[in-house]
Amino acid sequence: KDKILEIKNLHVHYITEDETVKAVNGVNLSLKQGESLGLVGETGAGKSTTALAIMQLVPYPPGIITQGEIIFQGKNLIYNTEKENQQMRGNGISMIFQDPMTSLNPIMTIGEQLLEVVMTHKKLNKEEGKKLVLDLLKVVGVKEDRYNDYPHQFSGGMKQRVVITMALLCNPQLLIADEPTTALDVTIQAQVLKIISDLQSKYNMAMILITHDLGVVAETCDHVAIMYAGEIMEKGTVKEVYTNAKHPYTRGLFESIPKLDEDSEKLIPIPGSAPNSADLPTGCPFHPRCKYKQDICAELAPTVKGKEHQYKCHFSLFENGEGN
Ligand code: SF4
Ligand code: MG
Repeated sequence: KDKILEIKNLHVHYITEDETVKAVNGVNLSLKQGESLGLVGETGAGKSTTALAIMQLVPYPPGIITQGEIIFQGKNLIYNTEKENQQMRGNGISMIFQDPMTSLNPIMTIGEQLLEVVMTHKKLNKEEGKKLVLDLLKVVGVKEDRYNDYPHQFSGGMKQRVVITMALLCNPQLLIADEPTTALDVTIQAQVLKIISDLQSKYNMAMILITHDLGVVAETCDHVAIMYAGEIMEKGTVKEVYTNAKHPYTRGLFESIPKLDEDSEKLIPIPGSAPNSADLPTGCPFHPRCKYKQDICAELAPTVKGKEHQYKCHFSLFENGEGN
């Protein structure tokens, strides 16, 4: 299978007179058609900035891609004109944001705005366009008689279904969902996630799902990348990383979430807090919180180890399933 997206050594910084926030620092990622990648990390790890960079939506100023390549279907998006970017965002890559109102216009009916998207990007007449919209609304579970309703007449979960419809109308090759269920009621989060996951496999799209929830990734994705301080600390198949995590940070994440068969008293939170991206630690950015750190960790940044299953640590602490 061909690579649909390849990110090479991506750096994104927010530069002001007072400080430089190094949000993304040398990210490498690739995705093939039909693959789904969970991008996991704490707030401020650089997940959303990575997504905005792929969409060519990093707000400038103060945000700027200072280094790297984002190759989508063989083309480096960094050199795109704004017109090419708009085409790419309409047809090639779609994004679902956390808050559905980021994508919906409050003063247009959902039918009007979905039809507008179709008519801008597809050569269809109005009748055909409306049929396409209604068919897809049906797939995500929005009834036909809601076509002329305004966004405020929908619940949060129903709004997000409309946004999913909007994202899929133009058959994107890549879908990016940035915490798509975080703003929703807990009871409907699973439903909305299932809709996204079903559509991803139905249309064989590549998907990047951004979340801080390792459980969500286990249910939805085949690959996972763990982000910390703007870097990918570990990545591989969900199966590999979940059964044989090799990075101390990944290990810490697993130890800090409740498992069904364990009581919550055994949970061990990772000590300390996420680093300030305007003042990152030297060497390995995780060293101030790492229980395995040695002198070298504060001095030298670790390089990537492994091939299919990669991790960034000076040491191989958990080889051969040891420590599981
Ligand atoms: Fe911990 Fe050192 Fe490995 Fe960083 S390089 S994760 S500080 S052991
Ligand atoms: Mg975010």
